[in-house]
Amino acid sequence: MTTVTTPTNFTELGLIAPLLARLTELNYKVPTPIQAQTIPRVLTGYDVIAGANTGSGKTAAFALPLLQHLHVEKSASHVGNEKGNYVTRLVLVPTRELAKQVADNIKSYSVHFNGAIKTLAIFGGVSINRQMQTLSGGADILVATPGRLLDLISNNAVKLDRVKTLVLDEADRMLSLGFADEIAELLALMPKKKQVLLFSATFPDQVTSFTQGLLNNPIEIQLQSADASTLVQRVFTVNKGQKTAVLEHLIKQYQWRQALIFVNSKNSCNHLADKLFKRGITAEVFHGDKAQGARSRVLDGFKNGELDVVIATDIAARGLDIAKLPVVINFDLPRSPADYMHRVGRSGRAGEVGLAISLIDHEDYHHFKVIEKKNKIWLEREQIEGFEADAALADFVEKPVARPAGHGKKKAK
Ligand code: AMP
Repeated sequence: MTTVTTPTNFTELGLIAPLLARLTELNYKVPTPIQAQTIPRVLTGYDVIAGANTGSGKTAAFALPLLQHLHVEKSASHVGNEKGNYVTRLVLVPTRELAKQVADNIKSYSVHFNGAIKTLAIFGGVSINRQMQTLSGGADILVATPGRLLDLISNNAVKLDRVKTLVLDEADRMLSLGFADEIAELLALMPKKKQVLLFSATFPDQVTSFTQGLLNNPIEIQLQSADASTLVQRVFTVNKGQKTAVLEHLIKQYQWRQALIFVNSKNSCNHLADKLFKRGITAEVFHGDKAQGARSRVLDGFKNGELDVVIATDIAARGLDIAKLPVVINFDLPRSPADYMHRVGRSGRAGEVGLAISLIDHEDYHHFKVIEKKNKIWLEREQIEGFEADAALADFVEKPVARPAGHGKKKAK
């Protein structure tokens, strides 16, 4: 009988020297659990369905084996990129910002291949002509949003009939109704025989059944765990109409270095920003009606710490890696329970301590129960001193709190 042990360092995972050298430079000391479980399987060629908490290192879990496969292929064939606008590794993602972030990560992991591996990010909202030029001669790894990729295909700028590996990042979103038609169109253009990798923090049941036909005898790795999370989730009950005042109170009292606030519509972003401005808090908005240049400026400013408060719709919910983000606040609850997990997962990434706060009024109360049930969490309802919700609902737990323990930063701004 053979005993299977989980590798505890990157060398044991079977990664090659140029990747190992880069991981050392990036100070990745040990593989995260999803990397330890996934990388050897992907290297061996298996199809994989991988579920793990947000911020647990999923990008490297698929990017490193893709790069290794490409390096081995290129060394064996003595030829460079295949002639024509072909792509052999395709990563599909739901948002423009995620396309850029994932491609940037892959480029960073591949610095020791000395330019031999071409990775491109393709997304809408920017000039298609420039993307057509950069795609000339094809790409090794293309990270794309589906809509723009289809546009480029219809312009003959890229061909998918040599795709060897397909990755769906945020897979449940990619396979949901919003993207299903585009994904079906893209799949029809790829070879039937290919390696397929699905990654997400959430996998609703209907998605799992949809994937049956897409994958060939996949290995399922599910590592989602509330216990393993370094994220503290809290729920404050407030009276209807009090949320803005409560938000102002929280931001001013706890002086978080940064805060990401989620609302449910583009209008609500602007509206809340105006209301906070009148209360002395400057916030930037991030939503789909902003031009791509403005979207990028807000995200870059937030990532590099120049912006303190950003109010966003769910386009910021998935995948975005904002280092050490202290707090996520659900001003509005997300409609989809899966999106709750993605939103709150912007904080507490890569083992950092994080905090997620949801503000619920009486109208949100039942929906929040659904969110908890679907995500298998239960959070104590708390009240904020001075903003106690009236006890019209028996379920409201009376437990005044002075501040979220351990998360308040006392420094004055
Ligand atoms: P991801 O879930 O891929 O967005 O990764 C979340 C964060 O963890 C990113 O900032 C990565 O750079 C970082 N990260 C990924 N893998 C490791 C690792 N093995 N050790 C340390 N940091 C990591």
